[in-house]
Amino acid sequence: MKLIVKNASLWDGTGSPVQAGMTIVMAEDKFVSITQEDVEIKEGDTVIDAQGKFVMPGMIDCHVHVTSTGQPKDITGNQNAPEAYLALIGAQMIQRDLEAGFTTVRNMGTKNFMDISIQKAWQEGRIKGARILTSGPCITMTGGHGWMGGLQSDGQDECRKSARLLLRNGVEVVKIMATGGVMTPGVEPGSPQLTEAEIRAAVEEAHKAGRKTATHAQGTEGIKNAVRAGIDTVEHGIFLDEELLVMMKERNTALVPTLVAPYHINQGGVAAGIPEYAVAKASQVAASHLNSFKMALQAGLTIALGTDAGTPLNFHGENALELQLMTENGMSNEQALLAATKTASEVIDRADLIGSVEVGKLADLLIIEGNPLEDISLLVKKDPIKIIIQNGKVVHTR
Ligand SMILES: [Zn+2]
Repeated sequence: MKLIVKNASLWDGTGSPVQAGMTIVMAEDKFVSITQEDVEIKEGDTVIDAQGKFVMPGMIDCHVHVTSTGQPKDITGNQNAPEAYLALIGAQMIQRDLEAGFTTVRNMGTKNFMDISIQKAWQEGRIKGARILTSGPCITMTGGHGWMGGLQSDGQDECRKSARLLLRNGVEVVKIMATGGVMTPGVEPGSPQLTEAEIRAAVEEAHKAGRKTATHAQGTEGIKNAVRAGIDTVEHGIFLDEELLVMMKERNTALVPTLVAPYHINQGGVAAGIPEYAVAKASQVAASHLNSFKMALQAGLTIALGTDAGTPLNFHGENALELQLMTENGMSNEQALLAATKTASEVIDRADLIGSVEVGKLADLLIIEGNPLEDISLLVKKDPIKIIIQNGKVVHTR
């Protein structure tokens, strides 16, 4: 029994231009043929006519918080909530991500491995939602950014041990806090936190196990520490400088800018119930953040899409706003689409499975009315995304 999408105008995410009149055949969970030829249709096959529609790979969000809703009242209110409750929130949040066209999300920090439990329920088919890559809790210094839900670790040995603990629990990416941030009271976004040696110890363990590493890093010194220590992705990267552009380019360190995170905090402000300390810090960093993004784009760094969904007013299901902000700050529509598909799959180390429509990959597909290469806001509106296919099954229609 196959799922067949015919008459597709296909943007396959490989960097090739749109091809009209394509037939995409899916069996089990994979693409089995992509062709302009006629294909044989057998009894029991499902055929979707995509005449006049734009077809593209499912999108990937490299930075979300699955157990956070984005409601300002939940940010502090849910800090000590029971895990069973937060896990149910997680199930709802990945459903919202999926319905927005994001068939895969990478979680970036959760207390006590809740993301691994949510992933297990998803893998067993008990819940619908975006496929999750798991991080478990982040590694942070004592009192460092995100310490309330993180593994507080000081010195190289403790950082190494924390990384090993994460790997033992099966995380797919190790998240390490290199600097302060906006959402933890009393820490400054610009200040370095874990040292280069501490970060390196954790990175070494992750790399030995074949896993990627990511760092929350906002201030220049802390980003440099992480890049020198061999980190794979810099998340946020608010204060980049010329030296960092060279360092990141040399090492192919990727940037996941999460432009929407401070955008929402600045738009909503204290009036929306966001803590005053967070609003003050977000407004301080906004201009540098956009400037760093533009510098990275100019320098040709690898940039992948991430939203930080779950931070204040940054709701799961509105992830595509990041593409719009990327285009408003210098990316072409196609560059933004690649950042959300092919490049994202490479950055999270899943390019063999997702990120483009190619035979042998997992069949994640969006069927869209209108052309996002011409109008990126179609994705933000969501309504034009008529059919969402994940693992070769139709998982959402509208
Ligand atoms: Zn985050």
